[in-house]
Amino acid sequence: MISADAALEIVLSHARRLPRLREPLTKASGAVLARDVGADRDLPPFDRAAVDGFAVRLAGDWNEEGTSFRLRGMVAAGQSFRGRLRPGDAVQVMTGAPVPTDADGVVMVEQSTREGDQVILRGPFDTTVRPGLAPRGQDARRGDAIVMAGTRIGPAQVAVLASAGMIEPTVWKRPSVLLVTTGDEIVEPHEKPRATQIRNSNGPFLQAMLAGSGWVSRVAVRRAQDRLSSLRRSLSTVGESTPDVLVFTGGVSMGEFDLVPDVLREVGFDLHFHRIAIRPGKPLLFGTRAIGRRRQAVFGLPGNPVSVAVTAWEFLLPYLRSQSGARDAGPLSVVARVDRAIARKPGFTHFIPGRIDAALSGRETGSRRESQEDREPGVTVVSYHGSGDFVALGGADCLIRLESEDPRVEAGDRVTVHPLFRERSWIEPWPEVSRRTREARG
Ligand code: AMP
Ligand code: MG
Repeated sequence: MISADAALEIVLSHARRLPRLREPLTKASGAVLARDVGADRDLPPFDRAAVDGFAVRLAGDWNEEGTSFRLRGMVAAGQSFRGRLRPGDAVQVMTGAPVPTDADGVVMVEQSTREGDQVILRGPFDTTVRPGLAPRGQDARRGDAIVMAGTRIGPAQVAVLASAGMIEPTVWKRPSVLLVTTGDEIVEPHEKPRATQIRNSNGPFLQAMLAGSGWVSRVAVRRAQDRLSSLRRSLSTVGESTPDVLVFTGGVSMGEFDLVPDVLREVGFDLHFHRIAIRPGKPLLFGTRAIGRRRQAVFGLPGNPVSVAVTAWEFLLPYLRSQSGARDAGPLSVVARVDRAIARKPGFTHFIPGRIDAALSGRETGSRRESQEDREPGVTVVSYHGSGDFVALGGADCLIRLESEDPRVEAGDRVTVHPLFRERSWIEPWPEVSRRTREARG
């Protein structure tokens, strides 16, 4: 049996990035950008008023107690002031409006008093800078890269791309998935189970998890019975495009009706591993096959709900991230102090459902001064009755990972924790030169 780390390495070594494609910005959230995006104009595109107030051209010294200006007009956002400001002139400007080029700065409306066609302006005014405005090109110059290839597109990147008019960014294609839940005993959630039947929870779990992760382009679902003919049928792709990844749940263990591995071999899959040294999730299977010039991957997840959560989070998602162009595809990992002692059988990497406390979950701890130790996240072990206990999963938001050599910890020890259903972002930094010019601009 191979180790958890070896299994993840094998999975990632088979993940090939899919082709690039242009995706509408409205659908691109979650994808990894495949080409740098540059600014199509200076940002801001003009000297932009940062406050509602008065753009002024000074006639002499600024007097904090009150300086009088001739009021020459008003500029709303979207408009512009035609003409020139002479010394002693002011123009009223709204936030976002262009500031006349000859203005020395903008004074807030709160510091003004109107007197006919005059306005008296008070308060501090720093004549060494042009206060109250954002100068043209301060954030980026036309042609500067503003989001780098390799960055995962999230809400903030959508905003930057939108501001540059990039409505169809080039991204790495995300894989499509076909999900097959197996088991003669399984009925759908809306059906009334007979005494010995079980409602399908793995299918809905995986659909929700995959959709929520943002790493898939499409998920199709099918059901299969524990018969060769039914399993074969679930693999036929009549009238549909071939999915990049197949995910089976159930039917991969040692039971008489665990027929999934046989059927996968029959249709040409190379099984790279079947059974790994983890608990729960030991029967996990991973394989690939050629379809034309593409490679299709298959994951056979054990049927037990906690095993599904562990194997999908630890192995399936890393594969999908890697195919989607993520640089660093493994699960997000943090360190937390565990609330109680745990001891498990050596020789297996154990994943135990937990709940992250305090700092990581954002709970406020009040105003008292805390020591560094107090601020460390803690993790509470969720009591659970083994891999079939899906009720426990509903109270967990992370997996505690115990290493196979010595899977024992004492209360208060630091442990490795993989937060469930949380995605990390990948931000590619600007190249040095671009960053330096930005910093020089202030
Ligand atoms: P298997 O891996 O097929 O031996 O299934 C292991 C356990 O998981 C059995 O108790 C099954 O009833 C249960 N199970 C299998 N598939 C599902 C599913 N889709 N939803 C909920 N439980 C399942
Ligand atoms: Mg089964």
